[in-house]
Amino acid sequence: MEERINRRDFFRFGLSGTLAFITTKIGLKGNSRSPSLSPLVQTKEKPKLIYRTLGQTGLKVTAVSMGVMNADNPDLVKAALDAGIILLDTAHGYQRGRNEEMIGSVIKGRPRDSFLVATKINPPTRDRKTGDFLPETSSQQFLEMLDLSLQRLGLDYVDILSIHNTTKREHVLNEVILEALLKAKKEGKTRFISASTHSGQVDVIKGMLEAKVYDVVIASFNFRQQNREEVRQALREAAAAGLGVIAMKTQAGVYWDKEKTQKINMKAALKWVLNEPAVHTAIPGFTTFDQLEEDLSVMADLTLTEEELKDLRLGEIHSDGMYCQGCLSCLETCPQEIPIPDLMRAYMYAFGYNNSNLALDLLTSLNLPSRLCHNCLSCRVKCQLNLKVKERLVDLASLLPVFTVAAG
Ligand code: SF4
Ligand code: SF4
Repeated sequence: MEERINRRDFFRFGLSGTLAFITTKIGLKGNSRSPSLSPLVQTKEKPKLIYRTLGQTGLKVTAVSMGVMNADNPDLVKAALDAGIILLDTAHGYQRGRNEEMIGSVIKGRPRDSFLVATKINPPTRDRKTGDFLPETSSQQFLEMLDLSLQRLGLDYVDILSIHNTTKREHVLNEVILEALLKAKKEGKTRFISASTHSGQVDVIKGMLEAKVYDVVIASFNFRQQNREEVRQALREAAAAGLGVIAMKTQAGVYWDKEKTQKINMKAALKWVLNEPAVHTAIPGFTTFDQLEEDLSVMADLTLTEEELKDLRLGEIHSDGMYCQGCLSCLETCPQEIPIPDLMRAYMYAFGYNNSNLALDLLTSLNLPSRLCHNCLSCRVKCQLNLKVKERLVDLASLLPVFTVAAG
């Protein structure tokens, strides 16, 4: 029978002791390592935390926050909060609502000022290819989804409410969406409003600055992005304008290869992001106590060592990797208008994060046709990162048979 670390165990041992307890008592398959190797365990020191202010929201956060997306163990979320993490990032759609429910079970009874919750809402009324909001999109539906999120979380309000997965300026300037976000804020159902963006970050941030109502941006940012200097510049402009800046997808897909033989140096990747002054906090999606400890340990010293810098340059050898940078340049090259960046993100969730449920949730939200690539004799997609798009679609279809992909 599966045994879980509970709250009492955590307080009894502290973070490091709990990690040792888990490792020795139940083992951590695929993540096991001797607790004696852990400096935190050896010294029983509490991890050093770095605190930053999330732009003009004034919210105090740790430099490393928690992206809860991949986690399904409430004890891990408890451990993160008990270790000092303040901000938990989730979304209405993660695990079809179970992610918000799990967070709700963890924060129940905790003082409301001891944690922050950010959630994101993605109305189902979007064009599959462009992500544009269809005419039937309604602020009322958005607000009903928010009410459901609040119910699952057991909260009267969230701290940050985002429109989820925006890819262009028009998305964050959409009148219906803005009406919904502002109404939620006026009614006290959120303290601050935001947009999340995996692709087209520069354009999205431009729109957010034009709108002059957003408080926070949640943007993909990591060492693997080819267009990272443009994104960096946009994040700096956002921070200079007073927006809180939250970095996501900081681990760039976790592995260099689908076979998972070569893992990206996670500490180095996280440090790289946190060395950017415009970034106030990062939300790595750790799923084990080992990873929690590793991510927290980054705050002891953000300096990148020569060895870590060398590890980050491995991308020069592994030209593709798991991460699609969302540059959108492939979209026009596919005659069947397949939403390739979203599918490549689903691929990363399935093969990099090992989270097929998350991949499935994303795929089902895309309203895909049941047959992809039929009547297409050879793939014309040219990817900026040389991702083998067609091969990845075939792999995805074999793992999650929600669609078929024609051979060829
Ligand atoms: S084979 Fe390539 S170009 Fe053709 S539909 Fe599939 S992804 Fe698009
Ligand atoms: S698949 Fe390649 S070209 Fe398309 S968005 Fe991703 S990185 Fe860019």
